[in-house]
Amino acid sequence: SGPPVAALVGQGLPVPCLDGVRRPYADLDAAASTSALPAVAERVADVLPWYSSVHRGAGHKSQLATAAYERARADILAFAGRDPDRDTAILCRNTTEAVNHLAHRLRLDPADVVVSTAVEHHANLLPWARVATRRFVECGLEGTFDLAAVVAALDARPAARLLAVTGASNITGWLPPVGAMIAEAHARGVPVLVDGAQRAPHLPLPPEADFVAFSGHKMYAPYGAGALIGPRDAFADGEPFLAGGGAVEFVSLDEVIWTSPPEREEAGSPNVLGALALGTAAAELPALGWDRIAAHDRALAQRLRGGLAAIGGVRLLGPGLEVATLPIATFLIEGVPHALAAARLSAEFGVGVRHGCFCAHPYLQRLLGLDAAGTRRFRDAAVDRDRRGRPGAVRASAGIATTIQDVDRLLEGV
Ligand code: PMP
Repeated sequence: SGPPVAALVGQGLPVPCLDGVRRPYADLDAAASTSALPAVAERVADVLPWYSSVHRGAGHKSQLATAAYERARADILAFAGRDPDRDTAILCRNTTEAVNHLAHRLRLDPADVVVSTAVEHHANLLPWARVATRRFVECGLEGTFDLAAVVAALDARPAARLLAVTGASNITGWLPPVGAMIAEAHARGVPVLVDGAQRAPHLPLPPEADFVAFSGHKMYAPYGAGALIGPRDAFADGEPFLAGGGAVEFVSLDEVIWTSPPEREEAGSPNVLGALALGTAAAELPALGWDRIAAHDRALAQRLRGGLAAIGGVRLLGPGLEVATLPIATFLIEGVPHALAAARLSAEFGVGVRHGCFCAHPYLQRLLGLDAAGTRRFRDAAVDRDRRGRPGAVRASAGIATTIQDVDRLLEGV
């Protein structure tokens, strides 16, 4: 199984448990957010004395900040495997904002079809509901679909204007066949957005995707910085997502000449510190070695999912153990409400997990075998529900700093 790939800032701090013992925190909530890499924390501390307004200041600090900001953008673009001559990284807050940005920017007609999947996080579902007609690739009880279902959705008429798919599920860790999906979409002239939020900390992002969105806080940088990557041309014309300072060449009281991307898409003062943190994580993560990260992930996924599946009364949601996934496991414990299970894991064992429906309600419904069409049988099915009647489960998820001992403490608690 080997040691963790890297230590993170604040990792393993002691947390108080009900028996009075302080246990080192076993953070099994990496799919929600990750702690920072030491290099990221150092970068933020180094920059604090001199951060300054980018692009428009003539002073020395502004020049330093501008150079560092543009260097971060280049590192983020390289992390996504993109061509700096053709592509750009629009720096934003997070994946949610990036997808909303693209949904606004593509200027779709409400009748235009966006092909998406039942596996998506709300961040890649709701923005498309506002601007287009959606056609879904369905998944089965195991939470997966095959390429033939994607091809059928792409071949249905009217033709799709976009394929929007996640690079990895935040509930099951399942990895849709994004490479083959992109090839099928491109063969039909359909561009592709990959929601890279979960994939980015574990695997290289597919460079052939037209658009990719991801968040710093899931890849070992703090909150408030994310990226939308795409061809510069896609943002060269038309109104930008946000209107304001920094996005313009020239303004009169009744006219505006917008500047070129990426500045055209980044109106307002940007999160310079956040961008530098994300840029540092984007440079550090591949340097740790994707092969090492993959081997670590494989070992943790086996211990986590295999260990849970072997416990009587535990129901692991999603694909069977023979299917490789990210080190994420979502499960139910027979007779123990999910909120209670998560609270006890924290209070008695110092294990941090998440519970609920994980911002992917349609997918969780399907994994639980509830009415695939919506919420009709919502209140009848015999599933664990919260006070508002919503179903839920417990999720444990691991990252580069997770140890086998962390996973074993969870298994012991369960
Ligand atoms: N997509 C996926 C697959 C996610 O897991 C998440 C975060 N849970 C998001 C999108 C949204 O990320 P953010 O909250 O950083 O916008």
